[in-house]
Amino acid sequence: MTSPPQSTDILVVGAGMSGLTAASSLDPTRFQTLVIDKSLKIGGRLASKKLGNARFDYGAQFMTAREPQFLSLIKACEELGIIKQWFTSDSGKQQGHPRWCGSSRMTAVADHLAGSLQFYPGLRLATIECINDTWLARMSSGEEIFARALLLTPPVPQILELLKISDIKIAADIFDRLDRIKYEKCIAVLAHLKGPSTIRHPGGMKFSEGQISWLADNQQKGISKVPAVTIHGSVIFSEQHYHSDRQKSGTLLLEAAKSWLGSGVSEFQVHGWRYAKPATVDSERCLVINRMPPLVVSGDAFGGPRVEGAAMSGWKAAETLNGLLP
Ligand SMILES: Cc1cc2nc3c(=O)[nH]c(=O)nc-3n(C[C@H](O)[C@H](O)[C@H](O)COP(=O)(O)OP(=O)(O)OC[C@H]3O[C@@H](n4cnc5c(N)ncnc54)[C@H](O)[C@@H]3O)c2cc1C
Repeated sequence: MTSPPQSTDILVVGAGMSGLTAASSLDPTRFQTLVIDKSLKIGGRLASKKLGNARFDYGAQFMTAREPQFLSLIKACEELGIIKQWFTSDSGKQQGHPRWCGSSRMTAVADHLAGSLQFYPGLRLATIECINDTWLARMSSGEEIFARALLLTPPVPQILELLKISDIKIAADIFDRLDRIKYEKCIAVLAHLKGPSTIRHPGGMKFSEGQISWLADNQQKGISKVPAVTIHGSVIFSEQHYHSDRQKSGTLLLEAAKSWLGSGVSEFQVHGWRYAKPATVDSERCLVINRMPPLVVSGDAFGGPRVEGAAMSGWKAAETLNGLLP
């Protein structure tokens, strides 16, 4: 893997929707921007994977677009064939916002945004230190990057942990705002089926009661060549079973979804999202923790608990950094 440069103007931590929209809107004529992520994959909670020939979206399932800026991005991606409209309303409801999804998988949106960005996967930010008006970012693998400004986009509890370990003092009111942000967990099951599911057209079902919150048929969605179902545990189920044996929790969800799984499951995997969606959202679209050198945080906990919210927060963070950094 290529090593990152030892210094940059702006270091964006996290290659999810927020980090990618921010990085692609930072002024390239004035700043060099690097994006890092602890994961080897791009997209964060825009997550897709394959089990044999079966392909699954197992994080965000679709995107809605209420804000003109986000709708423009969606439309541009649709024209390029990266995004398509999946369906227009929850089953049973007559009308609703169009639900957009990646034509091949949700991660394709992140791949598109990453475009020509300088992205370094597999780098976990471990600590930060302010030295002579510059941030020194130390990775757990030993690399060090000096940056004139930092944008942090991980889930807020992970940001607070990083600030604590790094012994960074922040104003009490800012700490309280960050500390108030809590997340829902989600246990996701990726089930490769022996035959077609019995999930009704268009292949997505939302539940307001019981152990399951969402079922998606990735074959009907058009991203898997073979029968592949994503099951999301409800908030209560996921909270109760998050620390239990994953295979057992997965088996319970498969049992609960049995009547939609047709002739049965050939193999399955379970993924636990510790920070699936923020249950509380801050009143501002991004938060400046330190003005000089700039330390800014963004993500869905600021813009709203969905892909669109993360993007709006990223754009706001870029606007803020473009203004703060000389
Ligand atoms: C199961 C599930 C279902 C969902 N369904 C929908 C849906 O249908 N529609 C919708 O609009 N939204 C949905 N969401 C929410 C949506 O996915 C998120 O709101 C959005 O993707 C968040 O983007 P983000 O950039 O704020 O955070 P993330 O995508 O979490 O990005 C943060 C990134 O930071 C990286 N990171 C963390 N710590 C470090 C570190 N120390 N060093 C380096 N990198 C680090 C992470 O690896 C991650 O890639 C769902 C989420 C989940 C989990």
